[in-house]
Amino acid sequence: MGTETLVLDAAKVIVDRRCSNPITLPSGVQVRCQSRLKSLCPGCSNLAAGDYAAIFRSGVFDAPPGYRFVALTLTAPSAGGTHRVVKDGRPPRRCGCGATHDPVTDAALRGLPLDLDTYDYDAAVAWNYQIGTLWNRLLREIRRHAPTAAYALSREWGARGSLHIHGLVRFPAAEYLPPAVLERIVGSVSARDRHGHVHRFGAQVKVDPLNADGKTAQSIWYMTKAVQYMVKEVADGGGPSSDYGREHWGRLHRAATVMRCDKCPPHGSPSFCQARAHKQWGARSRVVTVSDARGRHAATAQTRWSFTGLTRASQRQARADYAASLSSDDARADRFTFAVQARRILDGERTAAALDAITALRPRPAPPV
Ligand SMILES: [Zn+2]
Ligand SMILES: [Zn+2]
Ligand SMILES: [Zn+2]
Repeated sequence: MGTETLVLDAAKVIVDRRCSNPITLPSGVQVRCQSRLKSLCPGCSNLAAGDYAAIFRSGVFDAPPGYRFVALTLTAPSAGGTHRVVKDGRPPRRCGCGATHDPVTDAALRGLPLDLDTYDYDAAVAWNYQIGTLWNRLLREIRRHAPTAAYALSREWGARGSLHIHGLVRFPAAEYLPPAVLERIVGSVSARDRHGHVHRFGAQVKVDPLNADGKTAQSIWYMTKAVQYMVKEVADGGGPSSDYGREHWGRLHRAATVMRCDKCPPHGSPSFCQARAHKQWGARSRVVTVSDARGRHAATAQTRWSFTGLTRASQRQARADYAASLSSDDARADRFTFAVQARRILDGERTAAALDAITALRPRPAPPV
């Protein structure tokens, strides 16, 4: 990478990650709004995505030799047939409705049910509600064979409004479970909900061995993009909308409203329940989860995903410490250095070389992080 590119790249941090809604504390100090949602604050959202990407990467690229990795895609089961509209540039394919859809003019149909009246909305929202439980079951099974497997995962909305999981699993070489074994384990896992319905992962499970290379960094970045959107934006922002689409999202919403969740009042209607699941198509899980040494599913300290102990809290702290180390004049005069440093904190050692190249251009040395 040329030095010029690095300078432009670092300067972009100032623009891309500036907070749109800074909060002024009584002391007069301005702090970030810290939203992870692109619609609320693109700057903080980019910062959050960058933080998550750095956490994901630090469990792969900072690993000492002797670990193996797989990428997992765990899809939702079918709740009824959906329209297949290939992405632009892909070979045309016939849809279940009989038509061969145009990738551009029919984009609004992509992923929507073939038949709204027979699509199982109750099952669709129940799936979104249960996906976390099902993952916990799967993790327990994986750890029966690989006690110190560590993981990082993000939950992403599919075009039809069902969650699926993108995950990374790390095994010490001696505990490695090859894709065929993992696929079998995924297929064996189920969870029964309070209504007696049994939930399983969808048939299109993908298990890919992973190498710590550039392509991996790219797929990690893709995984983190999911954190920037929430339910409503999936319906509004996924492409052109249509009456048919609005009817689909409306039915999904109504199913989530009447679904009985674990927090619903035992003798009252779900409409009195304040749980978030009723407002987001049944979903209650966090968007990103990484294994750590604490909590219910901890096996040992080895299960901590990040080898450098990176968490969003530690990333925020590192930025705050750095900002505090500058006098306010410095901070104003030297936003460029600040951006470079912030970028270094975000990206870890990967950009240490970039930082060195940039500071070499500058007359005065960068302050220590
Ligand atoms: Zn903000
Ligand atoms: Zn169709
Ligand atoms: Zn409820």
